[in-house]
Amino acid sequence: MSIVLVARELTRHYEISRGLFKPSALVRALNGVSFQLQAGKTLAVVGESGCGKSTLARALTLIEQPSAGSLQIAGQEVATADKAQRKQLRRDVQMVFQNPYASLNPRQKVGDQLAEPLLINTPLSRAERREKVQAMMQQVGLRPEHYQRYPHMFSGGQRQRIALARAMMLQPKVLVADEPTSALDVSIQAQVLNLFMDLQEQYDTGYVFISHNLAVVRHVADEVLVMYLGRPVEMGPAEAIYQRPLHPYTRALLSATPSIHPDPARPKLKIAGEPPNPLEPPSGCAFHQRCPHATERCRAEVPQLRLLDARQVSCHHAEQIAG
Ligand code: SF4
Repeated sequence: MSIVLVARELTRHYEISRGLFKPSALVRALNGVSFQLQAGKTLAVVGESGCGKSTLARALTLIEQPSAGSLQIAGQEVATADKAQRKQLRRDVQMVFQNPYASLNPRQKVGDQLAEPLLINTPLSRAERREKVQAMMQQVGLRPEHYQRYPHMFSGGQRQRIALARAMMLQPKVLVADEPTSALDVSIQAQVLNLFMDLQEQYDTGYVFISHNLAVVRHVADEVLVMYLGRPVEMGPAEAIYQRPLHPYTRALLSATPSIHPDPARPKLKIAGEPPNPLEPPSGCAFHQRCPHATERCRAEVPQLRLLDARQVSCHHAEQIAG
């Protein structure tokens, strides 16, 4: 199985001005995230808004440069890539956004939008491009006559199919999907997720699937990365994490997810309060102000990621909490 993405200690800090005569502040939006992604597998990145998951998405898709750390896509170090290699990297990694309408050109026919990546990146003739577009349209459940239509003539679910088709036109090695179904009707979400999975199987693409909702990614994730205030707090095989979450934050996120078959052995946990202000991160464990298990040690000492029960977790008391 080939590795298509390697992130090492990926970090993104922003300097924020606090007004005249005041020193600027540093926001640590992404604070040392490391993982590997295999071809044909899905890493789900989960956390509340402000946890750094969208910053991670922008770094992975080369929209933003990391402040520190390194990124390797399809074997190529991003930082040392020359112009031609960067062009190839832009083909190798594609993105699907939450709002498909915003990512499509309202004045361009859908067929032409799908053909555009081929026009820019390949020597294919007009007829060959059209043939490829129509094959992809069929794969994502669009009809041939849709080629001539404009984005506003489609439903939300169809527009996300178009956005996914466009992202897959160049058969990228990595697809980053930022909340790709959260703007869709619940009845449509499962269909679009299935489509993601069908295309992954066909093209062996590695997916980074970003969501605030652990339930949405349950059926698509091979690995899960739970983030809090820019740091990973738990990361490992999806099955291990869903079966027995170890970090109190993961446990609370999972518990907040409605289930048709609630487990009576697993009591409902609520996350108290709001995520902390990233301009003034708490001392010690960043989760301590909201954690029912916090101790003096948690307030003083930052927990490091460590291997425990088939995954990595950053909590001083994970063994005792998980029982
Ligand atoms: Fe809670 Fe302490 Fe673990 Fe942080 S380190 S999650 S505060 S028990």
